[in-house]
Amino acid sequence: MFNQQFLKNTIKDIFGCDSPSGYYHNINLKLKEILTSLGYQVKFTNKGLVEVFIEGKSHEKTVATSAHVDTLGLMVRSINADGTLRVTNIGGPLIPSLDGEYCKIVTRDNRVYHGTILSTSPSVHVFEDAKSKPRDINNIVVRIDEVIKSKADVEALGINNGDYIMIDPKTVITESNFLKSRFIDDKGSVCVLLTVLEYMSKNKIKPSFDTYIYFVNYEEVGHGAATVSDKIDEFVTVDMGCVGLDLAGNEHLVSICAKDSGGPYNYELTTRLINLAKDNDISYCVDIYPMYGSDVGAAYHAGKNLKGALIGPCVAASHGMERTHFDALNNTMKLIFLYLTK
Ligand SMILES: [Zn+2]
Repeated sequence: MFNQQFLKNTIKDIFGCDSPSGYYHNINLKLKEILTSLGYQVKFTNKGLVEVFIEGKSHEKTVATSAHVDTLGLMVRSINADGTLRVTNIGGPLIPSLDGEYCKIVTRDNRVYHGTILSTSPSVHVFEDAKSKPRDINNIVVRIDEVIKSKADVEALGINNGDYIMIDPKTVITESNFLKSRFIDDKGSVCVLLTVLEYMSKNKIKPSFDTYIYFVNYEEVGHGAATVSDKIDEFVTVDMGCVGLDLAGNEHLVSICAKDSGGPYNYELTTRLINLAKDNDISYCVDIYPMYGSDVGAAYHAGKNLKGALIGPCVAASHGMERTHFDALNNTMKLIFLYLTK
């Protein structure tokens, strides 16, 4: 049903464009290019959200969906005397999983330097605590791939405190149809929405009701969807589902979240989504996410008068080296498509 080649190409495009929270100018242009080529009108809000409005068959109510295009990242906190970079995290990456990862430092005048994230005891031949040292934010640094002997050498490259550090997402699509990459949360869902929009555009399908689609920035830092339109009556955000412990989720399912750390989602809307999945042979699960907040929460805390629900593809090892299966992406596409059009 949905164009798998379009989905794969979109994954390469979107995952290949760095967009840690607050650094949205490149990804927004990329989204505009894709959406415009599909025939949609795109607006950037003042805060930096990408907004698409589609007139529905009925004007009885206004619905919305979203996925967040911002990701986790790092930023230069300070430059050490030896020319390594001390870092601060953007959002909540699983810091030990960053040890050994390649990265790029982007200066505010757009110079790009390669580097590697390393423990401060990075060699087993030298440091007795190389294996045991905690991999926390105070014990990792970035080694820049330039000839550097001092802080002054780093400053001479134009690198400053507050410069963004982009973590290599290492995106791979396997023959067995797994997508493994950093930032499937929530670029997987971004690609899901784009592929549904491609299907609707190609087949000239109108949504049932007036519909806003948002590609949100700043979700990973908590206030992403705070500024969505006041006209929205129902808001189904698409964000990763959780996998692990006693949760029902696995990498093949669309997860419908009944409750997260912000409390229960709207009862009627969540039940409607569960019934849609049940009645249409969509492989789904219902779960609660004990350590999770979504863009619906951001909208609620901003005082939006809407009914909120959360669905999304199940993602394993979230905020670390993530993985999902194309089954989960396809099940999510079916559910959000049916919600928007049925
Ligand atoms: Zn997310």
